[in-house]
Amino acid sequence: MPVYEFRCQDCGRLVRLFMSFAEYDTAVPTCPYCQSQHLKRRISRVALGKSEASRMDAMMDDSALADLDENDPRSIGRFMRQMSSEMGEDMGDEFNEVVGRLESGESPESIEESMPDLGADDPLA
Ligand SMILES: [Zn+2]
Repeated sequence: MPVYEFRCQDCGRLVRLFMSFAEYDTAVPTCPYCQSQHLKRRISRVALGKSEASRMDAMMDDSALADLDENDPRSIGRFMRQMSSEMGEDMGDEFNEVVGRLESGESPESIEESMPDLGADDPLA
């Protein structure tokens, strides 16, 4: 079932709704936080359909994780680059910058500190 993302025009929150295409045609999307119906459709970079989601699961199970060392920024960077190429998606400049810095050995904590806006518009990230 596809995920639709909306920005609530009243409380400003990001709202994710699971709906079938038929429902999307007829339903009036409602903000779960303030019950507003003033939702504006938002195009998501990360919305995953079912096939992509199970592809992610499959990747998580395979050898990519086996040689992931969470304490080694270079290993994390390599892993993230592999994930993005498997998904065949351009993840954007921010993502590429993070991966590049991880691969040069910078710690995730220090990258996060220097990029306070990282994922700021996505509370589920
Ligand atoms: Zn709202």
